[in-house]
Amino acid sequence: MTTHFPQGARIGVLTTEPVGLLDYLSPEGGVLLGQLVVVPLGPRRVLGVVWGKGTGDFDAAKLRPVARLVDAAPFGEGMLEFIQRAADYTLTPLPVMLRMTLRAPDLDQPPAARRVVHRVGPAPERMTNARAAVLRVIDEHGGAGFAPSELAQLAGVGTSVVKGLVGTGTLVETEAPKDTPYPRLDPSLPGKPLAPDQAEAAETLRTGLRGGGYATTLLRGVTGSGKTEVYLEAVAETLRMGRQALVLLPEIALSAEFLDRVEARFGARPGEWHSGITRTERRRLWHMAGRGEVGLVVGARSALFLPFRDLGLIVVDEEHDSSYKQDETVHYSARDMAVLRASIEGAQVVLASATPSVETWVNAATGKYRRVDLRARYGEAELPEMAAIDLRKEDLPSGRWISPTLGRAVEERLERGEQSLLFLNRRGYAPVTTCRACGHQIGCDDCDARMVEHRFQRRLICHQCGATKPIPVACPACEVEGKLAAIGPGVERLAEEVAERFPEKRAVVLSSDLYTSARALKETIANIAAGEADIIIGTQIVAKGHNFPLLTLVGVIDADLGLQGADLRAAERSFQLMRQVAGRAGRQAGDRPGVALLQTHQPEHPVIRAILSGDDEAFWNAEAESRHAARMPPFARLAGIILSHPDQPVVEAYAQELARRAAPLSEIGAELFGPAPAPIARVRARYRVRMLVRAPRQAPLQSAIAAWLALAPKAPTNLRLAVDIDPQSFL
Ligand code: ADP
Ligand code: ZN
Repeated sequence: MTTHFPQGARIGVLTTEPVGLLDYLSPEGGVLLGQLVVVPLGPRRVLGVVWGKGTGDFDAAKLRPVARLVDAAPFGEGMLEFIQRAADYTLTPLPVMLRMTLRAPDLDQPPAARRVVHRVGPAPERMTNARAAVLRVIDEHGGAGFAPSELAQLAGVGTSVVKGLVGTGTLVETEAPKDTPYPRLDPSLPGKPLAPDQAEAAETLRTGLRGGGYATTLLRGVTGSGKTEVYLEAVAETLRMGRQALVLLPEIALSAEFLDRVEARFGARPGEWHSGITRTERRRLWHMAGRGEVGLVVGARSALFLPFRDLGLIVVDEEHDSSYKQDETVHYSARDMAVLRASIEGAQVVLASATPSVETWVNAATGKYRRVDLRARYGEAELPEMAAIDLRKEDLPSGRWISPTLGRAVEERLERGEQSLLFLNRRGYAPVTTCRACGHQIGCDDCDARMVEHRFQRRLICHQCGATKPIPVACPACEVEGKLAAIGPGVERLAEEVAERFPEKRAVVLSSDLYTSARALKETIANIAAGEADIIIGTQIVAKGHNFPLLTLVGVIDADLGLQGADLRAAERSFQLMRQVAGRAGRQAGDRPGVALLQTHQPEHPVIRAILSGDDEAFWNAEAESRHAARMPPFARLAGIILSHPDQPVVEAYAQELARRAAPLSEIGAELFGPAPAPIARVRARYRVRMLVRAPRQAPLQSAIAAWLALAPKAPTNLRLAVDIDPQSFL
């Protein structure tokens, strides 16, 4: 039973304000633990959650009562514990962590009735572009019911267009209460008949779920081996048990295909949570998660902070994907927080991947996680054929990036009417613009970074801070005109080469910056899948699981790109990315075997050899061993401390001060490296200094860092200090 605080009881309320936990009096009628409330704070009213008994160290006579209750399901005890432990783990102040869980608009407003439109009739006789845009938006959202103004805004048209469609009987406007339940997903509909290894994997997951406790399972199998089909069975079991399931996906906005699959499997669409959903939907999903009125949520990493009433399953698909790590405001890994949340809620976690992270791989090897393998692709024998193209032996003129060997392979595909993908993980036209007269390279004014030429936008763009400037005619350093030259390839430049080489053919560039909306990108992807392109030129967004049935060749333009760099995960990331990209080729069963060709200057590099050999077990073993030898995660723990300030001497002096007081770190056997200027030493006109803490695996890293930072001298104004536990980025 949930704890109830009778009227007048002293309660602790965690607010979203920096003051954090404060004592109040329980209001008339009392209040439940976990209830969202509005409380007075000075002259203001702020949102908070009933956190427990009051602390009692505040004069009882001055206590003020809770102003009012928010009409929302109270947070369960598991949710409260999750907020506390996630805050402890990431060293985030509790109010900031609470705010992560309250990311829905107007939570303190009652669910007032409002006017919404639904699609009811056929398209109007007189169709205009504006009308078509409105219908596209509403159809895409499966009749969710939009406020007319919001629908108009999303479609990029005036409200009158929506009203017009009401007039033609295509849409109908009704009064609707906010926050309606989601349609029930039906777990009794039949799934696809499973192959034996799929059936076995599904049974393992079902058994775990029925046990009702926590466990994490690594579900491993190459792309197309049927992992999704297997975890949808686990979702079905969760729904049967009356619990809720959460599927986390990277790049959620691109997963129209996934949502269709869920609908086909369960007869209705799941709740969606990502940056592309409407405010109405966001609010609705938040409330329904808390009331248990949404069975399955498909979302981006922040969906993990929804106040689910009874979460039984969390799937982290592509668990190795770096987008699960958030590196702003709160530094956290959604994968690790999923494990934390599940362990509190007695839920099961499924980590699905073709190329698991070394951390997960080691956890599975040591038995901390279960591991289930799907061995082959569903209905297909093997991965694409993979080979290296040794660029040292190819005759490649400067300013050209497609080797003769790769070019011939593309031609063969064109003759057969098949698609080729040329992969280059570099947005823009050219990564460097240099002056041939003086050698100057054009950099960002505010960052320690070179500016990248984007020819489609006719500008130079800083990939660190987003600053842009026009491409100058004269060199900013020596003022000589007409000598600026683009160095190195980006996808736009590659597209130019493709257009010159294959002028008759249809080429499409897939790069996140070239699409103004997720919808536009989705449409392009659907068009490619339907065969409306011959050559696809793409950055890493193409690696993320899109299914292009006609694609039989993947050419990796620069397989060496990820291999350099001091990053701990350079090898791992490169391996994962290359394997995933290669996996795009020949997903279709039967007569169209795929080929992946990797252009490289170092075919003998261990990572390239591991990719080509297909022996990933050996790769992970070697990678784990080298991490072990270097005392690096997961065999030790790391924390990054990032300080920044507009003045370089100020931030450096402060960092030195901090480093001098690091005794609490040595007490737990941790080492402190730095301070040193960050590899990207200046971003947005702030100088950045980094420190790195390394601790033995079992050491209480967070509490030692907290104790250390408590000794910190008063920070100069405008100094920022961020702690990044388990950092992924060292820049
Ligand atoms: P993964 O998640 O490992 O990439 P999927 O589950 O998406 O693999 O499966 C790849 C393709 O094979 C999908 O189109 C899927 O519908 C199909 N598929 C998977 N399992 C089965 C099955 N048992 N019967 C029929 N088709 C299947
Ligand atoms: Zn910049």
